[in-house]
Amino acid sequence: MENCIFCKIAEKKIPSTTVYEDDELLAFKDINPHAPVHLLVIPKKHYSTLQDAAAAPDLLGKMLALAPRLAEEFGCSVSYDADGAPTRGYKALINSGPDGGQEVYHLHLHVVGGPQPWRGKR
Ligand code: AMP
Ligand code: ZN
Repeated sequence: MENCIFCKIAEKKIPSTTVYEDDELLAFKDINPHAPVHLLVIPKKHYSTLQDAAAAPDLLGKMLALAPRLAEEFGCSVSYDADGAPTRGYKALINSGPDGGQEVYHLHLHVVGGPQPWRGKR
């Protein structure tokens, strides 16, 4: 897709801080982080919005399944304290369309986490 910044990142035509890559997906650090950990997971194939990717549930599943793996790697996975209460954690979210706050029209999953305070910025 011409003039799509995330297609260009996927094609390595513009730089990014890559944190994961396979045949279908790329994950990299958000350039304007809203939390101590702020990563973006994209499909290498261009889909403008989540709406457009609805017919690709396997791909969406792979994107979502990557979030807890990245959270583990970046130290913000959900764990449990001695009393069994959940600690740490992150958000995995997809902004969709103008009313959903989407700014870049290449499907991407935000993985946002790390020690508070940061909640509400995204
Ligand atoms: P959204 O509002 O869901 O479309 O989010 C787009 C995200 O892409 C924002 O958090 C931006 O900071 C991020 N972003 C835009 N350009 C780049 C870039 N070149 N490298 C990394 N992240 C970017
Ligand atoms: Zn694209």
